Amino acid sequence: NEKKISDPEKIQNKTPSEPAVFVPVDRSPEIQEARLKLPVLAEEQVIMEAVRENPCVVICGETGSGKTTQVPQFLYEAGYASGSGIIGITEPRRVAAVSMSHRVAKEMNLPTQVVSYQIRYEGNVTSDTKIKFMTDGVLLKEIQKDFLLQRYSAIIIDEAHERSVYTDILIGLLSRIVPLRNKKGMPMKLLVMSATLRVEDFTDNTKLFRTPPPVIKVDARQFPVTIHFNKRTPLEDYTGEVFQKTCKIHRMLPPGGILVFLTGQAEVHSLCRRLRKAFPFRKGNTTTGVDEEADTSEAMRKFKKAKQKKTVVFRPPPPGTRLCVVATNVAETSLTIPGIKYVVDCGRVKKRFYDRVTGVSSFKVTWTSQASANQRAGRAGRTEPGHCYRLYSSAVFGDFSLFSEAEITRRPVEDLVLQMKDLNIDKVVNFPFPTSPSAEALVAAEQLLVSLGALKEPPRTGRVKDIERARLSCPITPLGRAMASFPVAPRYAKMLALGKQQDCLPYVIAVVAAMTVREIFEDLDRPAGSEDESSKLTQRRARLTQMRRLWAGQGASLLLGDLMVMLGAVGACEFAGCTPKFCEENGLRYKAMVEIRRLRGQLTNAVNAVCPEVGAFVNPKMTPPTEHQVFCLRQIVLAGLGDHLARRVQAEDILDPKWKNGYKTPLMDEPVFIHPSSALFKTLPEFVVYQEIMETTKMYMKGLSAVEAEWVPQLLPQYCHFGSPLESPSPWLCSSTGTVRCHRSSTFCKFSKANTVTMF
Ligand code: ADP
Ligand code: MG
Repeated sequence: NEKKISDPEKIQNKTPSEPAVFVPVDRSPEIQEARLKLPVLAEEQVIMEAVRENPCVVICGETGSGKTTQVPQFLYEAGYASGSGIIGITEPRRVAAVSMSHRVAKEMNLPTQVVSYQIRYEGNVTSDTKIKFMTDGVLLKEIQKDFLLQRYSAIIIDEAHERSVYTDILIGLLSRIVPLRNKKGMPMKLLVMSATLRVEDFTDNTKLFRTPPPVIKVDARQFPVTIHFNKRTPLEDYTGEVFQKTCKIHRMLPPGGILVFLTGQAEVHSLCRRLRKAFPFRKGNTTTGVDEEADTSEAMRKFKKAKQKKTVVFRPPPPGTRLCVVATNVAETSLTIPGIKYVVDCGRVKKRFYDRVTGVSSFKVTWTSQASANQRAGRAGRTEPGHCYRLYSSAVFGDFSLFSEAEITRRPVEDLVLQMKDLNIDKVVNFPFPTSPSAEALVAAEQLLVSLGALKEPPRTGRVKDIERARLSCPITPLGRAMASFPVAPRYAKMLALGKQQDCLPYVIAVVAAMTVREIFEDLDRPAGSEDESSKLTQRRARLTQMRRLWAGQGASLLLGDLMVMLGAVGACEFAGCTPKFCEENGLRYKAMVEIRRLRGQLTNAVNAVCPEVGAFVNPKMTPPTEHQVFCLRQIVLAGLGDHLARRVQAEDILDPKWKNGYKTPLMDEPVFIHPSSALFKTLPEFVVYQEIMETTKMYMKGLSAVEAEWVPQLLPQYCHFGSPLESPSPWLCSSTGTVRCHRSSTFCKFSKANTVTMF
């Protein structure tokens, strides 16, 4: 049996005081029997020996081999939670943290006070907690409070192959924390668990681990899966092809569950609808088959009868029926569904892309990687030999990249840079990332943070080399520390930091909460499912548009734009008691509204922790802001979103008709537009700030607020230049009348102080 520790000679760093206790666990016979079937059980000895002898261990095993549910139990039984320290497990997804904690509690026959979870807004951790599942973001926050993580005797980083940004950073940080703990005589263990086999980024990375950690491979009992490639690759209507294939399997092939991989929630919904229509479930009085996975945005739906919520996919389907799960890539690795024999793989994945220069983001459906496609196929061979239908040709598969890129290389990193600066890691470029973000992304992040006042401005004069170096190692400011303690991205954190002025805090908190939660409004552009639905939908659209206009208000408050609509929606919803009924009637997503409420509470606590003298409290039923407050709110929003400023191109400057109603932004040559759903669509203010630009049919700004040109030099001097409009390197900043001189010296700006927010 050679699947043992990869490099026994390299075992070093024996830690002295090892728990020698064995903590018994009282499992039910059924659970015990099910556990014994899991491949990871066969490796318990090897794993625990490696853990005892090494500070860091990597465990690699197929999905479903039992890593997430069993390894925490191994550590528990070996006494890693019997002293003062507890066992922590991080998951990149909230739904996994919650459901795995429940599962492990159940397997161990322990209450949730002992096997607990903590996610952004909620948790059931108590002083009795021994095993704690959490999202990676939660552990990162804890490191900020206690760099040595003294509460923990062992940390398991799960799903490391997903390469989520926080996971990557955690591994980087823990590679330093673990030796430090050992040096201080408080040994701690790090276990990195991963599904696919590309662990070299962790193990062969000398920046990370001087001695490569041992890798333990768990061989899953995998039955053969026959791969069927399509002859041709449908480029347009792949969802139609998926539907056909699924129907065909159901009609022609022997029993066995079907798992379908699509790219997003809308596709999942629509396929479920079509399948349910094609195969209506006939059985008396039971509710129809839609069943939502607990608290997951990556929806997983099942058609066929389903009475119980939440873990329905883990239960066998009623006799005579077939289980069909339609899922996004969440089912690739983090969840295992028993009884799957057929996999239908569209070969695609939806990813968010950011333009590195402009920050414009768009969701794009692209081909997945070979590793992911193989993961998907593997789901079919868990209980018996299976089949995987790839709806693309083998040639196309050959062109897939081998592995998916780490997220950190694909997204802006200002939030991470700020968190790291708060950990006093000034030279972020030198941080031991498993995969480093690009130098451009790091420079852009540092610049944004300097302009928000979160980092000290680097010197502008001196030797070029010194300036360059200083630009990449700006230390954090007190404002930056406050901002880092708010659990939102830096631009929003800045708004919170300014919010206590002019009694604006409750509104700023509500607006920031609403901006941070995705998709709070029902999508009015959503196509109707059928003819008769269509006229109803038209009526509904008209009514909801009316409602949003009402929330936007008039006159002064309208200028706060879409943020006023958000504020109005939150206010109205809270006055109505935040009921599912109110949300449904008014086109609000209930889950989003509940999340906003929680986030408001959390942000209020965070602000109170930084400035207790403010004594902020959450009054869910806030009254609408006064005109004066709206005025200040717009300035506060500008202060946070200053780099997202856009100016409408004046009629006389339009040479190309494509610029009609277009806005100019500093970094882009192309026009951007106000989305028709925006409260400011008809107003077309000269200057606006936007929350983000999404590229769909056009470049659309979303989350808009109108701002006044005079505020810019006052609130954002760093974006302004001295000189006449013609000389200015950013002429777009100068208003047509030429009255705004964007200049660092305040002599050129006239302000009535009483009306403006002051900057830190
Ligand atoms: P891995 O982390 O290696 O992918 P897991 O530990 O998540 O594996 O899963 C091990 C086994 O436990 C799987 O066969 C899975 O089906 C089962 N399992 C996980 N969660 C539940 C649950 N809530 N109910 C029933 N079975 C579950
Ligand atoms: Mg797992």
